[in-house]
Amino acid sequence: MPFDRLYIKIKCPSCDGTKLFKHSGYHDPKAPYKWKSCPYCDYEGTQLIEASRQSVAEYIKQLATPEKQKLAQLMAAEEVED
Ligand SMILES: [Zn+2]
Repeated sequence: MPFDRLYIKIKCPSCDGTKLFKHSGYHDPKAPYKWKSCPYCDYEGTQLIEASRQSVAEYIKQLATPEKQKLAQLMAAEEVED
């Protein structure tokens, strides 16, 4: 098995995806863009968290049928190799 964990991207809960960190002494309400970067997220205002099996299942459920079939074929091919 090449990976032991899967990750998903979520909107940063510290800055709500705005990249403006509000909960610290460094935030200046009169100049909200003075300290531009939130220390907890990436350039898109998102964080990586470990995906639960439930999240992975929900992700696969929302895929279009052809993509689901491709995934099923890949998983079936993996089972044959083992
Ligand atoms: Zn953030």
